[in-house]
Amino acid sequence: MGGIVAQSAGNGDDATRVVLLFPGRRLPLKFNTGSAMKASVSVPQDQLIDWLCRLVRIKRVSGNEHEAVEFFKQEFSRFGLQFKQSGRNLLAWRGSGKKTLLFNTHTDTVPANKGWTLDPHDPLRKDGRVHGLGANDAGGCLVGMFGALLSADFDESRATLMFAPTCEEEVAGDGFEKFVHEIPHFDACVTGEPTNCEICIAERGMFKLDLVTKGKSAHAARPWQGVNAAYLAARDILKIEELYEGFTERDELLGRTTLAVVMLNGGVARNVIPSEVKWTVDGRTIPQLDNEATIARVEKALSEHTKIEQKRARFGVWTRSPKDELVQCACKAAPKSKVGAFGGVSDAWWNQKAQGLILGPGLSEQSHAADEWIEEKEVMRGYEIYKGIAEKFLA
Ligand SMILES: [Zn+2]
Repeated sequence: MGGIVAQSAGNGDDATRVVLLFPGRRLPLKFNTGSAMKASVSVPQDQLIDWLCRLVRIKRVSGNEHEAVEFFKQEFSRFGLQFKQSGRNLLAWRGSGKKTLLFNTHTDTVPANKGWTLDPHDPLRKDGRVHGLGANDAGGCLVGMFGALLSADFDESRATLMFAPTCEEEVAGDGFEKFVHEIPHFDACVTGEPTNCEICIAERGMFKLDLVTKGKSAHAARPWQGVNAAYLAARDILKIEELYEGFTERDELLGRTTLAVVMLNGGVARNVIPSEVKWTVDGRTIPQLDNEATIARVEKALSEHTKIEQKRARFGVWTRSPKDELVQCACKAAPKSKVGAFGGVSDAWWNQKAQGLILGPGLSEQSHAADEWIEEKEVMRGYEIYKGIAEKFLA
């Protein structure tokens, strides 16, 4: 251990005074800003991967992030960072200046699925990759953001950099959606999710509708005595398909609103006409046809036999302008990255006031996948981009 990297862009005599020490010694968190010469301090890749492997060892399925919270509290203390805790959410920061950038990502993981051939909590380093549960989603983002918090070079009297590792992103709950209200004002927020370090400035909304179609049961030998709920449901299901195919609204980044019937359940026995079919519709929405407008169209399309039993619309659609200062800073920090839309839903939705974007190391197809992995050099790339964004935005 003892990763020390301190390089100076300087010219000899006023050599670097900045030394980043691991572990056991406190990071001075004072950078060589006294002269025109600026020190450039970098967290070494080995340190990032060490943090990542330690996080993989921690079981942190949504609702059980306690040990991950302890991990970050210890690391924050070790480096002399100020922080506060609320439930299983943490906020650490450097600086006391007005202009403020927030990094946020989640500590929780989904449970390991049945396809795992490796031990999900025994990090395996192989072929330049780290395998382990949550290594990709969102381990790379967690360690990259933490590294950036420690090492970004900015004037702490004029700006503040904050890092919030929060819980329960994968389920509705007590994470960023609540904690955001306890965080002091911030001008912009980078949400960490694996995007292959692409800059995502839009996210579709999402809703789920649980529906029930009702008929009347009868013996299967005398179907004329009943009303077959399967046929009634089938007609309404085809209306959903028709409705979706007829959507003409388009968004440049997000494409179109989609509807899909995702679950279907009915019937009680092989010789009984079903009196009830339960089914679920998933909707993904764009600003031109958002959750509310789409749900209204679904309601209108359904027959009187079908009722919506439950509506869940936790995440709305959001977009940001590519001209925003934060996006511009990200484009400079990651010149090879494309600006586009995020494929899923994330905690970025809860940042409804400040500038925002989603960016992180790793591939979204590795999230929630068996034997999940992230490339070690990708973790380093994510860290460098986060650091670059902070230094440009807080300059
Ligand atoms: Zn995630």
